[in-house]
Amino acid sequence: MSKNINNAKSKLSFIYVIFFLSSIAMFIVAMIFTIYINDMENKTINSIQNHLLVAAQRASVYVSVDELDLFHTAEDMERPEWEEIRGRLQRFAEESHVLYVYYWRYIGDGLIQYIIDNDEDEEYMVTPELIFALEDDPFTADAVPRIMAGESWVADLGIYTESWDDLISAVVPVFNDDGTIYCAAGVDLSDEVLVTMHHNLRTVRYALIISLIVSILSGFFGIRSYNKKANQSISASLSKGQFLSSMSHEMRTPLNAIVGMTAIGKRSDSINKKNRAFSKIEEASSHLLGVINNILDMAKIEADKLELSSVDFSFERMLQKVITVVSFRAEEKQISLSFNINDDVPDYITGDDQHLAQVITNLLSNAVKFTPEGGEVKFSASLLGEAYGECELQIEITDNGIGIDPEHQKKIFNMFEQAKSETSREYGGTGLGLVISKRIIELMGGRIWIESELGKGASFIFTFKTRRCDDNYADEQSDETTGQAKVIGRKSGSFAGLRMLIVEDVEINREILLSLLDETGLIIDTAENGEKALSMVAAAPDKYDIVFMDVQMPVMDGLEATRRIRALPDRDRGKLPIIAMTANVFKDDIENCINAGMDDHISKPLEIDRIFEVLHNYLKSRF
Ligand code: ADP
Repeated sequence: MSKNINNAKSKLSFIYVIFFLSSIAMFIVAMIFTIYINDMENKTINSIQNHLLVAAQRASVYVSVDELDLFHTAEDMERPEWEEIRGRLQRFAEESHVLYVYYWRYIGDGLIQYIIDNDEDEEYMVTPELIFALEDDPFTADAVPRIMAGESWVADLGIYTESWDDLISAVVPVFNDDGTIYCAAGVDLSDEVLVTMHHNLRTVRYALIISLIVSILSGFFGIRSYNKKANQSISASLSKGQFLSSMSHEMRTPLNAIVGMTAIGKRSDSINKKNRAFSKIEEASSHLLGVINNILDMAKIEADKLELSSVDFSFERMLQKVITVVSFRAEEKQISLSFNINDDVPDYITGDDQHLAQVITNLLSNAVKFTPEGGEVKFSASLLGEAYGECELQIEITDNGIGIDPEHQKKIFNMFEQAKSETSREYGGTGLGLVISKRIIELMGGRIWIESELGKGASFIFTFKTRRCDDNYADEQSDETTGQAKVIGRKSGSFAGLRMLIVEDVEINREILLSLLDETGLIIDTAENGEKALSMVAAAPDKYDIVFMDVQMPVMDGLEATRRIRALPDRDRGKLPIIAMTANVFKDDIENCINAGMDDHISKPLEIDRIFEVLHNYLKSRF
């Protein structure tokens, strides 16, 4: 187990390292790629701007100042030079690979006047008539001070895109012979490709950053959820390991006592020592039985087969039985036990008294177990509400013992979890009691919770739904039970003269049953398998008053033997009580016994009280 856990842990560390390294690698690649893209974009833009500047420089000397000075008004366009220069400019644009070439002059007062360009479209061509206020043209307004200072100007990428067509411009001054500035020469190029490239590269950059973030985040969350699952499975393995070791401890301890005390009892000559050994063996056996019953309950819970019965019972009487179980241990530890049942709690209710008693016994035993000597344990029951005969009761069991810290409070209702492994080492226990209790309470339509402070004690509070039942009916029931209890008393010779057949393949079990029934006065025959039992019953049809039948046996099992006995032709066979004795205590197993024709069921290990109860129920009409 610990090897698996170590493997899981080192796998986890390995995944972390890989994730960390790959995140760094991805980040570096993304950075390099971004720098490369930026560089490429800048170089492209620079080369285009240079191309424009060169073209603008050429344009500034391509038409002379004298020629440009010919055009100041609309009438000047009538001059023959107008078309001739426009033709030259069209050739220039073609040769220089620009879209437009044009000239404008600053005429003061924030106004510029266009002079001439190459535009073949008469509608859009520039003429001296076009005079613009700089405030209406922010780009040229940006260029004018530079031109007037004798510098060149290149538009930033895409600035025209939204206002004018997709153009990029460079403008340079045109100098007079004396070095003063006459006007500006400009060239435009469509920057559609450039802008598209710029946009695409920007998209690529964003996509890169987003995919980097997404992949790092998804890696991070993926690892986190893997980590969570791995930790859960590690802690489940640890809890399971812990559970198995405390379970083994819980079973070995009483078994050890049984084996040891049996040896002591056998060796000892003193009857007192033998008796002491027997009582220790009895104590250890009932503890072991408790552990096994818990495991069986747990198996039922896991298989979703835990089912509740419904009987009418006295709440107080059920509680009395529980008190009998826990008071002995409480007295030993000088713990004061106090019980308070509110007046509004119904005397008689309908529900599963056995399972309710099991929950209360578990909570009270825990309270006593985890409370130091001289402490206090209080029980209280109250009615939370009632409607249409259905009522909700609340039970609270409070102690002033060791308490449970908040972190562990969350865990103790989970399978294989105890409050703390140190606690289980010190106090023992399998940690199954609360899991089983919680499940039972949930089946009763209730819930359970803890209120506790470490070192100050704990309160276990649970609610459950039940029905108030008819007092008279319950009284009858309880009278019958009390009456029965009296008759069941194990008087010697209670069943004298009646005949019983025990069908059991394991010799020691036959022997135990024979000696348990020694004083009843029953005349007992035995059979080692179903086939033999069948032939014994068939041979002497009215001989037996009752049959105790094991279920799993070689040659012919108990179910088959019962079916065959029931099928025998004699009419009295149908009345012969056949009681199953089985270690299989699931509801399905019991149903199988009943379906095969058996009348009742006693579970192994056999409890003497239950044996007498069954004998009384089925034999009372025969004596
Ligand atoms: P166990 O058989 O081990 O007592 P339970 O399921 O009944 O199993 O209890 C689980 C754990 O809850 C115990 O081991 C103990 O640590 C804690 N616990 C239960 N009741 C109390 C209590 N009254 N005070 C302190 N701790 C308790």
